[in-house]
Amino acid sequence: TRPEHTYAEQTPRSKSWIEQAKKVMPGGITANIKHFAPYPIVMKKGCGAFITDVDNHQYVDYLLAYGALMLGHGHPEVKQAIDEMFADSGTLLFGAPHPLEVTFGHEIQQLYPSMERLRYTNSGTEATLLAMRIAQAYTNKKRIAKFEGHYHGGYNDVLYSVSPTLSEAGPADAPIPVKESKGMHVTDGEEPLILPFNNLTACERLLRAQQDSIAAVMIEPLQGGFIPATDTFIAGLRELTEELGIVLIFDEVKTGFRIRLGGAQEWYGVSPDLTTLGKVIGAGFPFGIVGGRKDIMEVTSPTTGSDVFDQSQSTFSRAKDVVFHSGTYNGHPLILAAGLKTVDVLKRDIKDVFARTDMLKDELEALFVRKGVPMKAVGIGSIFSVVLTEEDIFNYRDLQASDLQTRKLIDLHLLNEGIYTKPLNRYSLSTAHTEREVERTISAYDRVLSRLFG
Ligand code: PLP
Repeated sequence: TRPEHTYAEQTPRSKSWIEQAKKVMPGGITANIKHFAPYPIVMKKGCGAFITDVDNHQYVDYLLAYGALMLGHGHPEVKQAIDEMFADSGTLLFGAPHPLEVTFGHEIQQLYPSMERLRYTNSGTEATLLAMRIAQAYTNKKRIAKFEGHYHGGYNDVLYSVSPTLSEAGPADAPIPVKESKGMHVTDGEEPLILPFNNLTACERLLRAQQDSIAAVMIEPLQGGFIPATDTFIAGLRELTEELGIVLIFDEVKTGFRIRLGGAQEWYGVSPDLTTLGKVIGAGFPFGIVGGRKDIMEVTSPTTGSDVFDQSQSTFSRAKDVVFHSGTYNGHPLILAAGLKTVDVLKRDIKDVFARTDMLKDELEALFVRKGVPMKAVGIGSIFSVVLTEEDIFNYRDLQASDLQTRKLIDLHLLNEGIYTKPLNRYSLSTAHTEREVERTISAYDRVLSRLFG
């Protein structure tokens, strides 16, 4: 039942590419998350719901670039929108304001009414980084609180307790900040406050004790995009942060457009103070958005700062009362054109993506029942994960207690069967995933589970 042998037989060119890549990039990869054992599969082509590797194997793609490609690979309407934008404007980049920044912003504000003002960034990481600075400037407080198991980007302020081992993570109701990386030199006491997801009592105790120093609580409303906050937890956190004068940031980089078109905030009917978006709305390009309450977002406005701004001799337009936010590529015209078209297509087709995802989840759960293997398809909208457990999953520690070893083994077998996600990753669907792909996936799972469990 070991899948490594077949894997090696089927992917010799991937293996040799990765060996060559090691002479170019440490570990042969340019984002650590792309690595998995024995070696990652090297891809050369994408089309609709499929990707093809360098050994010419075709896979149904459920990774979809970590959820970014909600229209699948190479959507013709997006391609056309990009071509037209380029043809009309005659350039790739203005480096100056342009009309699409407003048209696009109106669209976002309609779907996310909490985003009364917004700014564009070049990645989800930049979006959360800016959201934090805005919150710190607005509240004149310093520390950030984040949740155990939640990811917001790879920089020092939030790169704590994303995937800690439980032996180092402290008590469940008072987690200890655990660094995710070497080389993070953070002054003691300036680490983020780590909160336990879906435990309102503990969050209230921890936040009340530190309310004078906490500028913001940043949260993935669905952890990892798939473990939902309970209704009472998210509503309680909203009330509590409001009472304590703490800015509540929904990091919807994963959940935006995927849980509902208006994100998790539409699903829960809860308005955060600030929201970050990325992935889907970039249509496959690097992109992010920060938006939120007008009075908070205005701290970035050079026109509401002191007069020092206009009198400044600095080409950086520095003004002491204004939060710095800049970027050569911010509001990139081609990305906005591609993102706007993505929203258009999703308005038409998103219900089909939800229906297909529900179908896949239901059929998978039924299959696992038939095989006598405990499994829950955890998630809402167009994302879910296959969690091998009989228990309900509320947080990172629950997930760690599920059978991750077997899940990984199943995933490796599935790669051999032409079903692609990075082992242990969640499943994202796109408008290109039809019933045919769902059926193909169920058949592959059936073969794999028969092999493993009889
Ligand atoms: N926030 C969340 C919730 C994410 O899932 C991610 C990326 O996976 C990020 C932020 C960082 O986004 P990016 O990879 O675009 O920098």
